[in-house]
Amino acid sequence: MNCPFCGYHDSRVIDSRDANDGIRRRRQCLKCGSRFTTYERLQPASLFVIKKDQRREEFNKDKLLAGIRKACEKRPLPTGTIDKLADDIETELDSQGRAEIPSTTIGDMVMERLKNLDYIAYIRFASVYRDFADITALKREIDDLVGDKMEPSVPTAQLPLLPDEELKATTRIRQRSRR
Ligand SMILES: [Zn+2]
Repeated sequence: MNCPFCGYHDSRVIDSRDANDGIRRRRQCLKCGSRFTTYERLQPASLFVIKKDQRREEFNKDKLLAGIRKACEKRPLPTGTIDKLADDIETELDSQGRAEIPSTTIGDMVMERLKNLDYIAYIRFASVYRDFADITALKREIDDLVGDKMEPSVPTAQLPLLPDEELKATTRIRQRSRR
């Protein structure tokens, strides 16, 4: 750690104490005598996501959030729901302490949660993320969903805030799946 005043490369520690999530050290520059403080914190081990083509990419919460946000666009979800969902997933990933995780597992975690929140968002997410090869696979997913849970558990999801197009789409999906 170079001295922030003169840039000298060496300093001595004059005080060291536990901070909230690490160690706080008071240092004195060996050249100009200025005092400054450094924090030492444990860097959590990186989690790598194994993508479908087997490439590995460092887990990126912003990317996860962006995907969920897109699926939840214009959906009547309470403020903070999406952030909480991403936080939940991050916490669960942290607690598993893995070095790598398939992207499909993370996708399943998102879907599991969206399913209980808002089925339009769930279907949107599923259609992008599952990359349904054909409409039959998507229909199967929707059938499972409708059979599993007709009503979303969050009451606000039933507010009539759907754009017309989506309303029609939902109705069609429901009618079709009842046959
Ligand atoms: Zn200095």
